Amino acid sequence: MHIRKQRLLTPGPTPLYPPALQAMMGSDIHHRTEDFRVVYRNVIADLKLVLGTSYDVLPFVASGTGAMEAAVSNLFSRGDKVVVCSAGKFGERWAEMTAAFGLDVTVLKAEYGDAVKPEQVAAALAADASVKGVFVQASETSTGAAHDIEKMGKIVAGTGAILVIDAITGLGTMPLDIEGWGLDVVVGGSQKAFMIPPGYAFLTVSPKAWKMAETATLPHYYFDLKKEKKNADKGESSYTPNTSLLLAFGVALTYIKSLGMDKLIDNAQLLARATRAAAAALGLELFAPGSPASSVTAIKPPAGMDSGVIVKAFKTRFGSIIANGQGSMKGKIFRIAHLGYFDFADLFAVIGELEIILAANGVPVEFGKGVATVQKVYMEAAAQAEKA
Ligand SMILES: *Cc1c(COP(=O)(O)O)cnc(C)c1O
Repeated sequence: MHIRKQRLLTPGPTPLYPPALQAMMGSDIHHRTEDFRVVYRNVIADLKLVLGTSYDVLPFVASGTGAMEAAVSNLFSRGDKVVVCSAGKFGERWAEMTAAFGLDVTVLKAEYGDAVKPEQVAAALAADASVKGVFVQASETSTGAAHDIEKMGKIVAGTGAILVIDAITGLGTMPLDIEGWGLDVVVGGSQKAFMIPPGYAFLTVSPKAWKMAETATLPHYYFDLKKEKKNADKGESSYTPNTSLLLAFGVALTYIKSLGMDKLIDNAQLLARATRAAAAALGLELFAPGSPASSVTAIKPPAGMDSGVIVKAFKTRFGSIIANGQGSMKGKIFRIAHLGYFDFADLFAVIGELEIILAANGVPVEFGKGVATVQKVYMEAAAQAEKA
């Protein structure tokens, strides 16, 4: 009752991997030295390894949005026709950003909680062969919905357009076969499944995307892919890197490698499945039941209740920080994250806390029903892992 440990349980920033945090203290190195080049080269090599690609991976000191912007400003020209898949706040970010850079944007919109269908992308590309790019979120964090990136990749690969994916919460929560599916640009951020604080964004660049960069004329300066690649090949960044965060990144990537990226994804998927089952057991509805993401599960509060009451009670009663809805979804959903350094013990706690919070607000709850559902999923998964 009296001690409340703070637990950061949001879909970014996510819980931090303690050895990575400790590594940040070794940041008294200079970035134009061999000591640094070793660290930088290793981070980039390990990123390629866990992403499963030989394409260039370029990091930038920025939040995730910085690498999204790098893709737009380096690969397109004013007036280029592009298609944006928008199913939530982050899809709207692509629409706003591409419009801000003067691109000719067609938005394929899905209702909040739904996903844009690959067939819609195919139709938009078939209707206009001059489309240069398709933008989408792998996982739309604001609603908890996932897009079918494999299908979209295969559709876009057969056209003159490139597919630019905000995979900031997709990486580490769903399979993304970058080269096999034709994913031209995949954007990631340090504060999501990579278990370290915010401050690094990165993106992969396919040969098809590099080809577009040759003729692209939008202005850019800090986010310069060609310049960054030239320097990265020498083991350096164009400008002063975030040394402490890179040290953390190196340690977190070593951990992810030891675990296996497939296991990190499986972990998120298991926790997401358990959360959906627990919500059902507690009589709660999901916000994106049709194509649920494994990065985060968005749940509707009981009828007549503001989700802010639940989010606030998590903090005041238990020190647990979970996410409310964003924008117009504020008050209408609460979001439980699964990406990165989350485990079943976290989820037992979250669902146990949720049961108490619901009961304290007059919602009839059979204590333990949600937690038992999570325990069952754990036991099934453990039994399967033993057999394998
Ligand atoms: C977190 C997130 C971002 C990045 O936001 P930043 O605040 O710039 O790091 C972008 N897209 C999605 C889907 C996200 O979840």
